[in-house]
Amino acid sequence: MLRSPFSLNVADLLGKNASGREVTIEAPVDWGLELIALSPDEPMTAELMLHPISNGIAVTGRVEFVTIDTCHRCLDTTRRERSASIGALFDEALDDESYPLDGQEIDVEQMLRDEVILSLPLTTTCDDECTSVVEPAPIDLNTDSPEEEGDIRSPFAVLKDLLDPGE
Ligand SMILES: [Zn+2]
Repeated sequence: MLRSPFSLNVADLLGKNASGREVTIEAPVDWGLELIALSPDEPMTAELMLHPISNGIAVTGRVEFVTIDTCHRCLDTTRRERSASIGALFDEALDDESYPLDGQEIDVEQMLRDEVILSLPLTTTCDDECTSVVEPAPIDLNTDSPEEEGDIRSPFAVLKDLLDPGE
């Protein structure tokens, strides 16, 4: 079984005289929100510092990632480089304030995902000036080719039937 890049053995940090250690994790992820998602083609990079604390591990650092943002006005997509700062605790307390320390292992995936998602704006526009609104594609009135004449009714004829069913 492939070991998750997010699983870290922290045995060396649990001793009495342990000192901190830096870890860099680079991995493609598919995290994101509906309109803002991390690019699967560009791995996120987390540069973490693991600090021993009395009953676990404190993790600080920074994660850098690229998102593909869909403008909520015009639906254009934009590639953006983003980052989030990390600060989390891993210990054996089963509470909401920390992530689990599992023996000598911590899995930082959920923590990183939480921090990344939290850092994302709820909506995004392609640029500050975007004033476009999403409209249905315009009906092209010139698509009827001569061969199809007679077979296809114009959209206006259909619309007229709907509006005036009695005629
Ligand atoms: Zn836009």
